[in-house]
Amino acid sequence: MTTPAIVVVGAGPVGLTAALTLTRRGIPVTVLEQGDELATESRASTFHPPTLEMLRDLGVLNALLERGIVASTFQYRDRGGGEIATLDLAVLAEDTPFPFRVQCEQSKLTPILLDALDGVDVRFGCRVDGLHSTGDSVALRTDGGLIRADWVIGADGAHSAVRHGLGVGFEGSTYPERFLVASVEEDLARALPGIAPINYIFDPDEWLVLLRTPQHWRVLLPTPADTHDEYELRRLPERLAAVADLGRSWNIAHSTLYRVHQRVAGRFRHGRVLLAGDAAHLNNPLGGMGMNSGIHDAVQFASTLAEVLGGAPDERLDEVAAHRRTVAIEHVQRTSHDNWNRLRSRDGSHHAQLRALAADPAAARAYLRRACLLDSFGART
Ligand SMILES: Cc1cc2nc3c(=O)[nH]c(=O)nc-3n(C[C@H](O)[C@H](O)[C@H](O)COP(=O)(O)OP(=O)(O)OC[C@H]3O[C@@H](n4cnc5c(N)ncnc54)[C@H](O)[C@@H]3O)c2cc1C
Repeated sequence: MTTPAIVVVGAGPVGLTAALTLTRRGIPVTVLEQGDELATESRASTFHPPTLEMLRDLGVLNALLERGIVASTFQYRDRGGGEIATLDLAVLAEDTPFPFRVQCEQSKLTPILLDALDGVDVRFGCRVDGLHSTGDSVALRTDGGLIRADWVIGADGAHSAVRHGLGVGFEGSTYPERFLVASVEEDLARALPGIAPINYIFDPDEWLVLLRTPQHWRVLLPTPADTHDEYELRRLPERLAAVADLGRSWNIAHSTLYRVHQRVAGRFRHGRVLLAGDAAHLNNPLGGMGMNSGIHDAVQFASTLAEVLGGAPDERLDEVAAHRRTVAIEHVQRTSHDNWNRLRSRDGSHHAQLRALAADPAAARAYLRRACLLDSFGART
């Protein structure tokens, strides 16, 4: 039997996880990445328990834990009134060996995955700009010429050339405000005593999120869609001073202003092409679900593909594609959109609900199983 040619497009967290999942099962894979090196930008920074389980199974969890911070609790706060409720992930002890979130930038995971792919053909500076898919093979057009594949996993991010090449729609909407993320060199635990490593702060006029990462605290602020970037960056120090007055300007390491979308591809499987991660679905970052659910796509698709190559029915891939799309819409998008609505709501009844939740371990467990993507990971392949 000839070895199938499997190509993963994109060396982000999702593509590299898919490649490593296949490699661990002894299946050769080629990764094509348009960049000359791994992306270093500051993006996702939270790893949920099921993702930690998957990274453990791939043999890379310890390296991530060495670089990250364990966050056992997270907090809901009111901008004017302080703590509303603290949820303790210890209530998940029966559900996962890792009842906590790990705070660590995705740009620290990708080099770990790349190291683990030692010996795998990872081609940097190789951009895919089109594809032709027939029943049992795919031709990828790259700037280095045509590459033939028996199977393709498109993990090439939000602007996916693989998705465009298939002509697949990406329906959804764009949020009416932009999100501004500032990484700051300040000890916010000292400036705001009592905060948790992860804090969702309610305010109808200006909600915010405070997240601890190994080197920084990150502040996420909503920002009008139609103002100039320079104006927003100029007024950032004033906005940060309103979060906590340090008596001087905050030290800002870097800041990013970006548009946020909620979109989903019409289908995640098209013959021999599978779409995973941001190439397949987008959501807002509230709750830290984008990268995590993309990693779950990667593991479920790659392990099922390995089974199909080993003789399992091809329909298994259809089932996984349908399942991952349902998870993206009904779980990831819905939960992250609810988080956004709640943060900016004028309806204070959420406060009482969250306090009741924190006081009831069974209810907190059910809530956290959803918030930490344990429920959607349930139908494991
Ligand atoms: C500011 C910000 C904060 C975020 N915070 C969180 C968070 O806290 N938690 C969370 O879970 N998610 C978060 N997300 C979302 C998360 O970053 C993404 O969901 C995640 O990066 C998706 O991974 P991916 O591998 O699918 O895509 P990407 O990380 O975008 O990787 C795609 C890769 O494909 C390559 N590529 C693109 N086009 C081509 C091509 N034509 N040919 C070859 N290679 C190509 C790119 O160079 C890139 O390396 C955040 C996103 C942003 C922007």
